Amino acid sequence: MSAQNPRRHAPRTDTPRTDAVPADSRRHAPRTDAPRADAAPTDSRRRVPRTDAVLADPCLATARATLAPEIVKQAVQRALASVRSGEIEPPDVIETVLEALPLDGCSLRPVLNATGVVLHTNLGRAPLSPTAVRALTTAAGYVDVEFDVRTGARARRGRGALDALLARVPRAEDALVLNNGAAALALAATALAVDKEILVSRGELVEIGDGFRLPELLESTGAKLREVGTTNRTHLADYRDAIGPQTAFVLKIHPSNFVVRGFTSEVSVRELSGLGVPVIADIGSGLLAPEPALPAEPDAATWLAQGADLVTASGDKLLGGPQAGLVLGRAELIHTLRRHPLARALRVDKLVLAALEATLAERSTPTADRIRADPEKLRRRAEALADSLVQAGLRCAVVESAGLVGGGGAPELTLPGWAVELPERFAVALRLGDPCVVARVDESRCLLDLRCVPEDQDGALATAVRACM
Ligand SMILES: *Cc1c(COP(=O)(O)O)cnc(C)c1O
Repeated sequence: MSAQNPRRHAPRTDTPRTDAVPADSRRHAPRTDAPRADAAPTDSRRRVPRTDAVLADPCLATARATLAPEIVKQAVQRALASVRSGEIEPPDVIETVLEALPLDGCSLRPVLNATGVVLHTNLGRAPLSPTAVRALTTAAGYVDVEFDVRTGARARRGRGALDALLARVPRAEDALVLNNGAAALALAATALAVDKEILVSRGELVEIGDGFRLPELLESTGAKLREVGTTNRTHLADYRDAIGPQTAFVLKIHPSNFVVRGFTSEVSVRELSGLGVPVIADIGSGLLAPEPALPAEPDAATWLAQGADLVTASGDKLLGGPQAGLVLGRAELIHTLRRHPLARALRVDKLVLAALEATLAERSTPTADRIRADPEKLRRRAEALADSLVQAGLRCAVVESAGLVGGGGAPELTLPGWAVELPERFAVALRLGDPCVVARVDESRCLLDLRCVPEDQDGALATAVRACM
């Protein structure tokens, strides 16, 4: 399925942004609920092929032999709807159908991330290392995920990932892996605070993205939130005054995606740990130990050392692993969480356990490497790319470009780097090309930042740009 013409569809007029990737893609038949305003479909409508005729086309023989008939039929019907709405012409139907079919297994397409944003939530956050990908593939078959091969009896599920987590954070007495960071918070609230109160600073009531708010998540469990302090300033006394028999725990949330400046104060985990109630600290990012490149980011080891009873975090942010929620800390609290019925609904599958264990075992991750990328090396790569494009007759320049951690982390920090600057119109063509390239659009320029492009893909990126000329 390689014959693809990226410019067959009308280019989208919206501007790509680093935080938003269009949901549609070239491989899908254009959506039928969004007909083009300028379409004049009368002619095409008269010539719409019959579904049966398209389904019988010899070009769809492989699809018919390997895919579920419903999937093929759906793709054909969508393509025909596009003909009716004037989005495509009848001769394009077969190609549109082939592009829409998941002949490679799924409709997710690999993307070259040229945005300079390391943890791009719309692009799947942390990319896994080759070792983690191999582990994931191994786990896809039968594996001893919950089985002891010596005794033939049931064993603790995912113990390899847990052992690796405890090796990386020795201060944690025990650990638990759940579906994501939000699941970790939901389970903590459900298992420890239903019909009780969670104390949280008004400065830490965070919306994490896509309209989801941590306070609403916590209250959805039946726990009550007791807000203390103000947006900009919260003091130890605010917590102390609010503590009572109804208090389940104090929640410290790292406001990972925003910064409050000016007349501010917050209470540290160390001070909170002296209040006599459990302290649960949500670091979000998943850093297990201090990262010199990210001095403002909290990490699990430090907050546990400061007295947090539990730390919660995501697996696919700065940890650089698969989507997961980590809970680390006191054994008895972890035990309470693990034995709660809801834990079963939030548990991770063997693929995640495998990829997480592999990620934790490695010295570095693609995420860490990209955050620490040497600006000089990025400049040399950008210059080489620009040179090859100039030779092909394209006018472009190498400009300074600030990379971002992304994923709602380290919002203030810019990572020094370089990018190849192209006219803005390239952004759309690159997105619709093969490979799909997502660039950064900034002040009417299309910037190709190589920070998150694997170095062995620089050639593929150059080819993709040339194809758009
Ligand atoms: C990202 C984040 C979450 C949510 O984690 P997910 O893994 O996306 O569910 C919760 N809290 C903080 C502070 C975060 O940064």
